[in-house]
Amino acid sequence: MKYFLDNIYKVESTSQGKGIIGVNENIISYKMDKDTKVFELGSDYFLYPGFVNSHDHMLGTYFPRVGKGPYINWLPWDNDLKDAMIYKERGTFTNYELYFLSSIRNIISGVTWVSDHIPHSVNEKFIGHLPINIIKDYTLAHEVSSYDLKWGDPATEHEKAKKNKIPFITHIEEGFDQESEKGVEYLKEFNALDEYTVMVHGIALSDKDIEDIAKSKAHLVWCPTSNWFMFEKTADIKKWLSNNINVCLGTDSPMSGGMNLLEEINFASYIYNKLYDQKLDPRIVFNMITVNPAKAFRIPAGNLKEGTPANFVITKKVKNDPYENILCLKLSDISLVVINGKPVYGDIRFKNIIEYLKIQYMELKIECENKFLAIRGALKILKDLKTKIEYFKYLPFIPINFKK
Ligand SMILES: [Zn+2]
Repeated sequence: MKYFLDNIYKVESTSQGKGIIGVNENIISYKMDKDTKVFELGSDYFLYPGFVNSHDHMLGTYFPRVGKGPYINWLPWDNDLKDAMIYKERGTFTNYELYFLSSIRNIISGVTWVSDHIPHSVNEKFIGHLPINIIKDYTLAHEVSSYDLKWGDPATEHEKAKKNKIPFITHIEEGFDQESEKGVEYLKEFNALDEYTVMVHGIALSDKDIEDIAKSKAHLVWCPTSNWFMFEKTADIKKWLSNNINVCLGTDSPMSGGMNLLEEINFASYIYNKLYDQKLDPRIVFNMITVNPAKAFRIPAGNLKEGTPANFVITKKVKNDPYENILCLKLSDISLVVINGKPVYGDIRFKNIIEYLKIQYMELKIECENKFLAIRGALKILKDLKTKIEYFKYLPFIPINFKK
């Protein structure tokens, strides 16, 4: 599989400009042979490194959201979730089906990498069989409190992460009880706060915690939609940024969080404006879904360099500024998603690319736009949404209509 996309405006964190991108099997390559097929894209698009969703629970890919907050911490929400009828209904679908739906949910919003917060025993058997990149080298704790879900001991898991130079991922201070508010202090006691530590939520972080995180070069993941739904509050993101902390953006699962990364970006920008009466710099948002997670999770993502895995997304140009553009994207504006060299989803006008590559696809409509989806097995799983339970289950983060 070798092809070039020509006459495209490429956008990275520190550079942008008109150019070409080449794919050789599953990697980006700019070395062109004479006989390499070239596709002209034109000036209506921007090409970005594939987006990274820095926090999801892929098993929780269901809807509607459950909860009647604001809660004191995540635990009563989790109890409400597990008592809910909709949670039982979710159980009708197999774990593999939920992971597959999650992959589609992420792909159609331009995401090519996902951080799935769950023990390895749940996701390791699926990772190699799903059409999206899921971070597989990590250690984890559910949270840093005595009442967490016991997915891993923070001290031991952090030690393992440091030894293997992989991220140690944990929820942190997702609540306002005494113990939640000491999450960072506990990590310091365990010697587990450093550049390997990636912490999610942090809605109760004190000024001192934020300074300690900055000093330790640890990373934070912001999930504003989920925070607002459960707590009617979110993290002090402005303080995180002014302390130069490496910040990433995540949707969380759609049972508490954003429908997809595009909606999350939109809400992040809205809530920043509401809280601080200032505009959140679009380039900062761009970094939160590209270079920042690449650094935090130690994955080859976030840029378009020669020799890196070919994960990129092409979107419509709805704003002239390419960073401003990502704040305004709708699902229908995602025009081509390439994962490890393979175009898996995009506008039907690009079907000549997948036809040239002899990849099977199906046609569908999203937000009235004609698209192709080239993921083996997708049709069966999407159709199961109509037949597995007693009514047609509509999931708003997969607003797919099949073409007759
Ligand atoms: Zn979470």
